[in-house]
Amino acid sequence: MNFDFTEEQLMLKQTMRKVSKEVLEPMIKEQEGKPITKEYLTKVMKAIKPYGLLGTTIPEELGGAGLDVMTYALIYEELPHELKGIGGVSPGLARAIANNGSAYQKEKFLPGLLSGDKTGCSANTEPNVGSNQAEIQTTAYLDGDHWVINGTKTFITNGIHADYIGVSVQFDRSKGSQGVGTILVDRNETPFESRPIKLMGFEGGDLAELYFDNLRVPKENLLVPEGEGHKGKLKGFHVWRCFVAIHAITIADKALEYSLQYVKEREQFGKKIGSFQLIQEMLADMKTDIDAARLLAYRALDMVNKGKHCRLETSMAKAFAAEMAVRVTSDAIQIHGAYGLTSEFPLERLYRSARILPIPEGTTQIQQLIMGRELTGISAFK
Ligand SMILES: Cc1cc2nc3c(=O)[nH]c(=O)nc-3n(C[C@H](O)[C@H](O)[C@H](O)COP(=O)(O)OP(=O)(O)OC[C@H]3O[C@@H](n4cnc5c(N)ncnc54)[C@H](O)[C@@H]3O)c2cc1C
Repeated sequence: MNFDFTEEQLMLKQTMRKVSKEVLEPMIKEQEGKPITKEYLTKVMKAIKPYGLLGTTIPEELGGAGLDVMTYALIYEELPHELKGIGGVSPGLARAIANNGSAYQKEKFLPGLLSGDKTGCSANTEPNVGSNQAEIQTTAYLDGDHWVINGTKTFITNGIHADYIGVSVQFDRSKGSQGVGTILVDRNETPFESRPIKLMGFEGGDLAELYFDNLRVPKENLLVPEGEGHKGKLKGFHVWRCFVAIHAITIADKALEYSLQYVKEREQFGKKIGSFQLIQEMLADMKTDIDAARLLAYRALDMVNKGKHCRLETSMAKAFAAEMAVRVTSDAIQIHGAYGLTSEFPLERLYRSARILPIPEGTTQIQQLIMGRELTGISAFK
């Protein structure tokens, strides 16, 4: 493993850091407390496009940025944590289309997603289907030239405003996970009902429940056919686990940064609190925790990049980093005392944002079961 990044990678990272500070953070500040709108989402997409965050690993001949996974992750690391969900999900759908789509689908869906004029999302979770994605209950059947989709999807990031939705469906219940595939829905052509969901730590985000009631979608929109859906999705999860780890590290970094500043200002017993050994112990543990998570994430990304078998390593990175961010943001509140709990300081917001992360892209428990399966060869679940 070699984490001496190239000059080009470091330059891209530095550029993104500058853009985040000078352009994106003011945008986030201006948006604070307001409901997310389509205009805001488009503004974010357009602002991050020049730095490869929409084109990501998609080949240049398809209009993408042609980055390798590691370089993409290094740039993504510099994106403010508030934008990591909305800015990551839409390119995720674009990558799925670039990897699996027909010529028609690439021509129809990719240009809008890559320019930032359109946004996308992936709808897998259902009211009764969370961790076990093999049990998808939303159904699709062919009727003439159209798929007819019935079902409900829930906790969908970008779900209110996304133009294009990759919907996982069950084509044939008798086949279980082998019956699962994905159909693309163009919301403007075939509208459907949705409602926003309020979620702790996700106040500035777009999270929704989607309702498909005999939704008729053109036959050509079949992205992943029956039999390949569940397997294909697992591959995607694999990469996204590393990106959730990177998301967690960004939040924890911020919490440590604020804490280091505060301990040099706040005085008790006539001394800066940073001079107390127990405070220094907390800071040392926070930094060690963050660096351990970063090394696990970089190792997993390096393995993904090289196409190595890395289920154990991506699960370790995701589970450790997500739980680490909860610990570190909690300690940061402790260091700030009661001020850390007030909304006048950013710590309670960071804590709430961190608390989300052990749940999506496979809960901590699911990651532990994957690790257990990789270590023992025995599966604790289907
Ligand atoms: C912020 C956010 C954004 C999201 N965005 C999306 C999105 O864009 N698209 C999408 O499709 N979904 C999205 N989700 C949904 C997410 O993928 C699910 O929440 C996740 O898969 C877990 O499912 P669940 O919440 O139904 O929990 P459940 O699966 O019901 O789990 C409940 C509890 O049981 C535990 N558990 C489950 N099975 C086992 C087992 N076999 N052994 C031990 N413990 C077990 C879990 O770890 C958890 O503690 C998002 C969720 C959040 C919080």
